[in-house]
Amino acid sequence: MVYNIALVKGDGIGPEIVSSAVKVLEKVGAKYGHEFKCTDYLAGGCAIDATGMPLPEETVEGCKASDSVLLGAVGGPKWDKLPGDKRPEKALLGLRKALGLYTNLRPAKLYPALKEECPLRADIVEQGFDLMMVRELTGGIYFGDRGRRDGKYGPEAYDTEAYSVMEIERIARAAFDAARKRRKNVISIDKANVLETSRLWRETVHRIGEEYPDVQLSDMLVDNAAMQLVRRPSQFDVVVTSNMFGDILSDEASQITGSIGLLPSASLGATKCGLYEPIHGSAPDIAGQDRANPIATILSAAMMLRYAFDLSEEADCIERAVDEVLAAGLRTADIVGNSGATPLSCTEMTEEILKRI
Ligand code: NAD
Repeated sequence: MVYNIALVKGDGIGPEIVSSAVKVLEKVGAKYGHEFKCTDYLAGGCAIDATGMPLPEETVEGCKASDSVLLGAVGGPKWDKLPGDKRPEKALLGLRKALGLYTNLRPAKLYPALKEECPLRADIVEQGFDLMMVRELTGGIYFGDRGRRDGKYGPEAYDTEAYSVMEIERIARAAFDAARKRRKNVISIDKANVLETSRLWRETVHRIGEEYPDVQLSDMLVDNAAMQLVRRPSQFDVVVTSNMFGDILSDEASQITGSIGLLPSASLGATKCGLYEPIHGSAPDIAGQDRANPIATILSAAMMLRYAFDLSEEADCIERAVDEVLAAGLRTADIVGNSGATPLSCTEMTEEILKRI
């Protein structure tokens, strides 16, 4: 098979880490008989320098026409003083909107080799965890009606949470589909004891759940979920929740891994053309020094294989290679911690992963 991938390397360490991921894709392609045809597009600060705009039309069109998008990171101090709509970060929002991406998938996994970095208690760490946050990305309170007005006690502000059945149905399906590629368990997070949107959320998720009899579904209130994530994270497989709850809980989940520099993410929409990117930024402080950790981007490429192209075996192969380098004690500078390991460069870490594919 031939797959067309749009590469948006972006700024800072973006070009280094995306190039590492491309090498990994090429090796996997050679092993399994696929061709990954990659085309570069500009977005972020580099696009501002070249065209005056953070997200040129050519990039939008190129990404839309491709099977999937692999993004490094955008932004840096050089462009920090530009006004809001001219800033590099505008490219990310623009791309998400243009591709109609409404689902954010963020895995949070504890690597046994890095358990020293986990901030949780030793007995909880021993149980391990490997969960997937599925966050609704384009609805809810972040997009609802808001404003200021004169209230009963003087000036007040308000924000509105609204969810349509359609929006809940499609995010629920994304969660159940993700669960089918994992341990077939979904926990839906809401605040149905208080919020009407949550009651509609719960009702709708359960109705969609009937289409997935092989996936186990349960509910949890968001305040309890925030507790359970640090108390017994091993109970979670797929977690599905609204935009704001997901924003907060996905950061909590990434923190408890102790290694946020390793975490990938995917944003998916109605089509299979999703956006795959590490959760970290462009790390301008180490850009161009061959010191970046390429693992989050390499794992984002693995997510692309699994979710965009249904290539689970190939994705497993990349994830296993990453597990093996970490288990072998190999570290880039950001994850050396107290291990005493000699830090590898971005190039060396990539080579070690390639050797294991
Ligand atoms: P950051 O994630 O870029 O960096 C935070 C710290 O983590 C830095 O010390 C950096 O060196 C380190 N780090 C991050 N990724 C690393 C990697 N792969 N390997 C080794 N070390 C790594 O966050 P920041 O400093 O707050 O932001 C820097 C720039 O990135 C800003 O312009 C910000 O707007 C942008 N940003 C972009 C995205 C994105 O493109 N999705 C996300 C977050 C921040």
